Amino acid sequence: MDIKQIQKIYDFSGKTVVITGGNGVLGGDIAVALAGLGANVAIADLNTDVTGDLQKRMHNLAGDVSIFKCNVLERESLEQTRDAILEKYGSLDILINAAGGNKPQATTSPDLSFFDLPKDALDFVLSLNLQGTILPSQIFGKILAEKDNGIILNVSSMNAFRPLTRIPAYSAAKAAVSNFTQWLAVHLAQEYSANIRVNAIAPGFFLTNQNRFLLTDEKTGELTARGQSIIDHTPMGKFGDPEDLIGAVLWLLSPASSFVSGIVVPIDGGFSAFSGV
Ligand code: NAD
Repeated sequence: MDIKQIQKIYDFSGKTVVITGGNGVLGGDIAVALAGLGANVAIADLNTDVTGDLQKRMHNLAGDVSIFKCNVLERESLEQTRDAILEKYGSLDILINAAGGNKPQATTSPDLSFFDLPKDALDFVLSLNLQGTILPSQIFGKILAEKDNGIILNVSSMNAFRPLTRIPAYSAAKAAVSNFTQWLAVHLAQEYSANIRVNAIAPGFFLTNQNRFLLTDEKTGELTARGQSIIDHTPMGKFGDPEDLIGAVLWLLSPASSFVSGIVVPIDGGFSAFSGV
């Protein structure tokens, strides 16, 4: 790669990116960064009500940001979103699977033992994280396969390497997302094209809507014992900021990682490297 190509590595002009869950804390930050670098970004989210910081930041960027109502668990909804994106932008280059999360009813607590976790809550979390990654990869991934080119980036988690206490379904589902990332990377490269790459990021701990109830006290805002334990086990001694993900995401979506496929990159302040002693 000559120096001129290297200088343009993070220029996403002319690329179209779909981000499921792009109206969330982490997906939203990624959406703004990519549009800032020239990409047309289609946010595909169940919630199309963009508020607060994201609303302010998604305007006047080099690329366009638009939002489509989409349920990653419904094929028809994904197909409609795909058609709308193709009509608006003409093509698709990158899929980011960022829809996902846990819920309190699938989380053990002094009031809810593992033995009593309701099946519908477990199903919800398993499905949202795993099927919610597989189904969009089928619908949007087919476009990449047809043009022999493209990138898929999944969002796994620290739970995938070693399960965290209290959240069995979320841990199992994210382990499955990491496994599926490897499977799809191999499948698409062997059956379709070496120009299609599939990787994942595994964020450590970021304070967002899905985990705030576990990490901070609702009334005081103080760290819970679990929140403190996480900080104590993170060598950098802090939660991540969404912007901490951006460098690794850009690398995995750019030609800088052109020979990288099937990996899961931890972005965790050293959490996964620390034995606790
Ligand atoms: P978030 O709750 O802020 O965002 C999730 C987004 O997904 C929301 O906008 C929500 O509306 C959307 N969504 C939920 N169900 C959907 C569905 N069926 N169809 C379409 N969209 C749907 O959470 P976040 O922290 O930004 O999470 C983004 C991803 O990062 C998730 O996969 C999450 O599991 C993962 N993750 C988060 C952390 C963390 O510390 N926050 C750590 C590791 C991994």
